Amino acid sequence: MDPFDSNSTERANLPRNMIENSMFEEEPDVVDLAKDSAAFPTFPALDPDEVVYEPRSSRLLVRGLGENDMDEDEEDCESSARLLGMSFMNRSSAHRSNSSPYTRQAPPRSCSRPSARTMVVCVLFLVIVASMTMVLYFLPGCTFTKTGCRKENKTTPIEPPFPWTQFRLPHSIRPLSYDLTLNPDLDNMNFTGSTVIKMVVLHNTKRIVLHSANLNISKATFKLGDGEASDMTVLEYKPRQQIALNFSEELKAGQYCVLTLDYSANLSHTYDGFYNSSYTDKDGNKRVLAATQFEPLSARKAFPCFDEPAFKATFLIKINRKPDYMTLSNMPKAKTTPLNNGLVQDEFEMTSVNMSTYLVAFIVGNFTPVSKNVSETLVSVYSVPEKKEHTDYALDAASKLLDFYNNFFEINFPLKKLDLIAIPDFLAGAMENWGLITFRETSLLVGKQSSPLEKQVVASVIAHELAHQWFGNLVTMSWWNDLWLNEGFATYMQYMSLQTVLPKLDIGNLFLAVRFRALDKDALNSSHAVSTAVNSPEQVEEMFDSVSYEKGASILLMLNASLPVDQQFRKGIIQYLKQFSGLNTDTNDLWNSLTQVEVSTQHQNVSEMMSSWTSQKGFPLVTVSRKGDQVTLTQEHFLLTSDNATHTSSLWNIPVTYVSDNCSLAPECRQLFTLKTKSGTFKLPESVKWLKLNYRNTGFYIVHYGDDGWAALRDALANDVSVLTHEDRASLIHNIFALSRLGRVSFRHVLNLLNYISNETETSPVTEALLQLNKIYQLLDKRHEYSLVARMKTYILHHFGSLMDKQTWEEQESVSKQELRSALLETACGLDIENCTQQAKALFKQYVDSNGTSRIPGDLQQVVFNVAAQSPEDWSTLLSLYGHVTYDAEKRKMLRGLASTQDARKIVWILKAGLKGNLIQTQELPLVISTVCKGFAGYLFAWDFIQENWDRLIEKFPVGSFAIQTIINSATSQFSTQAHLDQVQGFFSSLKERGSQMRSVQEALETIRLNKRWMEKNLPTLQKWL
Ligand SMILES: [Zn+2]
Repeated sequence: MDPFDSNSTERANLPRNMIENSMFEEEPDVVDLAKDSAAFPTFPALDPDEVVYEPRSSRLLVRGLGENDMDEDEEDCESSARLLGMSFMNRSSAHRSNSSPYTRQAPPRSCSRPSARTMVVCVLFLVIVASMTMVLYFLPGCTFTKTGCRKENKTTPIEPPFPWTQFRLPHSIRPLSYDLTLNPDLDNMNFTGSTVIKMVVLHNTKRIVLHSANLNISKATFKLGDGEASDMTVLEYKPRQQIALNFSEELKAGQYCVLTLDYSANLSHTYDGFYNSSYTDKDGNKRVLAATQFEPLSARKAFPCFDEPAFKATFLIKINRKPDYMTLSNMPKAKTTPLNNGLVQDEFEMTSVNMSTYLVAFIVGNFTPVSKNVSETLVSVYSVPEKKEHTDYALDAASKLLDFYNNFFEINFPLKKLDLIAIPDFLAGAMENWGLITFRETSLLVGKQSSPLEKQVVASVIAHELAHQWFGNLVTMSWWNDLWLNEGFATYMQYMSLQTVLPKLDIGNLFLAVRFRALDKDALNSSHAVSTAVNSPEQVEEMFDSVSYEKGASILLMLNASLPVDQQFRKGIIQYLKQFSGLNTDTNDLWNSLTQVEVSTQHQNVSEMMSSWTSQKGFPLVTVSRKGDQVTLTQEHFLLTSDNATHTSSLWNIPVTYVSDNCSLAPECRQLFTLKTKSGTFKLPESVKWLKLNYRNTGFYIVHYGDDGWAALRDALANDVSVLTHEDRASLIHNIFALSRLGRVSFRHVLNLLNYISNETETSPVTEALLQLNKIYQLLDKRHEYSLVARMKTYILHHFGSLMDKQTWEEQESVSKQELRSALLETACGLDIENCTQQAKALFKQYVDSNGTSRIPGDLQQVVFNVAAQSPEDWSTLLSLYGHVTYDAEKRKMLRGLASTQDARKIVWILKAGLKGNLIQTQELPLVISTVCKGFAGYLFAWDFIQENWDRLIEKFPVGSFAIQTIINSATSQFSTQAHLDQVQGFFSSLKERGSQMRSVQEALETIRLNKRWMEKNLPTLQKWL
C-alpha cells in the first residue's frame, strides 16, 4: 500500500509512530505456515492451537493452567474462563460495541458433551464468576462494561464459551480455497454474501477460529470429508473480530472439510472493507460505486476469512450486479450469467496463485478502460468515464514498468491481466491488490498538459505498486511485524526502477529528501526497530509508517551500494523471490538469500551486517577525527531525546564510505571502511585537506566531522561548490542541522556552513536548506518571537534572494528545476515578498479571466493558489473553481490554497467542511488539517478542532492509521512551550483506549520537548548571529 497521498514535501514531513519500543526489540517467534505447506507437518507433543507468539523470547509458550495437566474439556473451560474475564474486564478494544462482546449467531449450545469432571469445574467457575460479578456490582464506580454496572446481567444467561483467547488465529486449520458470492445492493448500500471455505486440518483440534467483522451470519454449515453437511452454531467474539465453531469430536490432522457461511452486512461508510463511495459526474448526477480496501485487517469486513497474511489460499469470486454496472476483481472475468431477478452474475476465474486475504479486491460501478498488452499480460487503466483522457500516461508508465520488473526479477508477472483503477473516493495513495491495483485519482490520472512533477507522482506510485506484485504479493511477510519486507522493498524499487525506466523524471532528489526525513523520524526515542513486535490491531495500523517504508528503502539502498560486486543485490533478490515464490517469509530469509549469493572471497556477510539495522531502532552517529593520515571513526546511537540521561549501547555494522579533496566526485573515488565496533581506525594512502563521509548519502547514518573537519569542508565549499556532488552538499546541510538539534554543534556553525549557499544552484541542497530554515522560522513565528522572525526573513532573502529572482513563471520542462522553482517561490511568496506575490496574483487573474483556457504551469499552481487564497475575493473564486475542476491534482492544490487562508472564519469553515465530507471529501481532511496547521492563524484552531472532534476523526480513520498519524503530527509538531506540552499530554492521556497508546502520541510529546529545549538553548544564539 502507498499510504502517502500527496507530493514529496508532504511525504517528507509526514509522521511516524511511536510507543517506547525497547520492550519489543526482540523479534517474535513466528511459525511460518506457508513454508511448511507441502507436507502439512505437525508439531509433535504440542497442540499448535496453544502456540502463542511471545515477543520477548524465542520460546514457544504452551498455554495452560500451570503445571497441572488437564484434559481437553477442562482446557476449553479454562479458555472460556479467561475469556469471560476478558469480556468483563476488556479495556483495550477499539471495536467494542455497546452490546455484549459475544454475539451468538445461531441457536445456543452449551459445552459439548462435557465429562462429569468438566461439569464440576464449569459449575465451580460459574459460581466464582457470579460471585465476582456481585462483588464488582456493589463496588462504587465500577467500570467493567461500557455502560457501567448493568443490572440485567444478573438475569442474562451465560452464553457458550468462545474457545480462543489470542489475537492471532490458531494454526491447526489451514484454508485452501474460498468460493465467494456477493450481492451488493448499491441502492440500499448493503450486501449479502456466501463464503465457502475449503480447509485442511493440520493438527488435531476441536475448534475452527477465523475472522469476521460487522457481518450478520445467518447460516453456517460444515462438511467433513465426504460426510453430510450439517448446520453449525457460530460463536462470535467481537473485540477480536473472531468467530469460532466448536466440535464435540476432534477434527483429525490430514482431514479435509468445508465451511459454508451465509451473511449480510452494510457497505462500509469508512474507507476500509467493502465500502460505498459516490461522486458527481460532469452532468451533475450522483454516481455510486462500491470498492474494497482490505489491507491490513479489513477483508474480514467483506467475508469471513482467515485474515492473516500467512493464510494464503485461492479465491473464486462471483458478484451479482444490475446490468448497467460493471465489476472488476483480481482475476479476468470467466463468464457472465443472467439471473432470474433481473440481475446478472459475473464470475471471475479462480486465482491462479495462492494469495493472502488482504490482497483480494472487487469493485462495482461504472468505469472505462484503456488497455495494452505487455508480454502475456493485458494491462488496463480504468477511470470514471469522463476522466478517460487522463489515463494514457499511467498506461504507458505501467507498461514500461511491468516490462522492467519482468526482466529485472526474471519472473514474469503471473496473471493474465493487470488493472489499475482510479477510484473517486479513496483514502490511501494506492493499494497493490493482485491484478487489480486501486489508486486515488491523483495517484493515477494526469492530463495531457500536466507538468513533469505531476507525472513524477503518478509514475512513483505505479512503480511502487507494481513492485509489490513481486514483493508482497508473490512473496509475503509472514506477519505484520515484517511489513517492511513489503513496503521497504516496494519503496526502494520504486526509486530504483524509475531511475532506469523514466530517467527524465529525475527521481533522485525525491529519494534523497525521503532519506533525510526518515533519519529525522528515526532519531526520536519513540521510533522502533524495522522488524518489531505487533500484537494488536492498532499496532498493525502503526506499522504503516516511515520506518517500514523510508527507512526500509534506505537500508536497502545502503546494502546495494556497499556490496562489492555489481549485481549481487539483484541476484540475491531473484534467488529470494524464486525460493519463496507463493510463500511467506521473515526478514532473515531475505538476508540469508542475499548472503548465499557467493560472489567473491571478500564479500560481506549480509545477514551479519543487516540484522544490526533491522533489529534495533535508530541509526548511528559517526564521529570522525583525523591526525595526519590516521583517521579514527567512532559510533554511537544518534538519539534525540529530551531526557539527557537516556543512553543506549546499540552498535551497527556500518559500511562507511568516504571521498576526499583528491578525488571526490566520480563513483571510483569512493572508499569503503566497515565500522562494526565502537571505534575503528584506518590510514589514508595520501595526505588530504578534507574528508567527506557517506558518499552521496547512500548510508543511513549522520556524520560529525569535529570543528576542524567542518571548517575544512566549509572552506572547500566557500571556494568552489562543485568540489562535492550535490547529494553530498545536501547531506552536509542535513547533518549539521541534525547535529544542532542533538546539541552537538552550535547554531552558529550551522549558519557558518550555510554561508556558501548563495552560490548554490542545485535543487537538493537548496530545498534541504529551505526546509530546515523554514522549520525554525515556523517555530519562532508560533512562539511570537517577532523580531527574530523578521531577522530570519532577512536572512533567507539575503542568502536565497538572487536565486529567487532568477526564477521564471513560464512552463519549465526539467523536473529538478521545477522542484527548485516551486520551493523557492513558495518560500518567497510565503514571506510576502512583493515581487513574488504580484507575479502570482497576475497569473491567477489571467487564469480566471481566460475561463480556464490559459494554464498555470503545474509546479507553480500551488504558489499561485496560496497567494490567491489570501484575498477574500480570490478565495471565493478559488472555492467556486474547486467545486468545478475535474482534474484531481489541480483540485488538491486548490484545496491546499483554500486551507492556507489566514482568515479565522474561513479556517473554521474549511475544517468543518472537511469533516462533513460533502463539498470537501473526508479523504482530504488530513491534508486540510496539515495545511491549516502551517499557518499562523490556523494552528491553534486546528488543535482545538482535533480535540473537539476526536471521536468523529477515529470513526473515519482508524486509531494508529497513517491519516491519524498525519493529523497528530501536523497539529503538534510546531509547539515548543511547556503550556502546549501540558495541553497535548493532558488531552491524549484522557483518551485512554481511544488513542493514548499510539506511538504518534509519544512522538508528538517528544517533539514538543525537543522543540522547547532547542528554542531555550538557541534563542540567544539566534539573537546574536541571525
Ligand atoms: Zn506499498
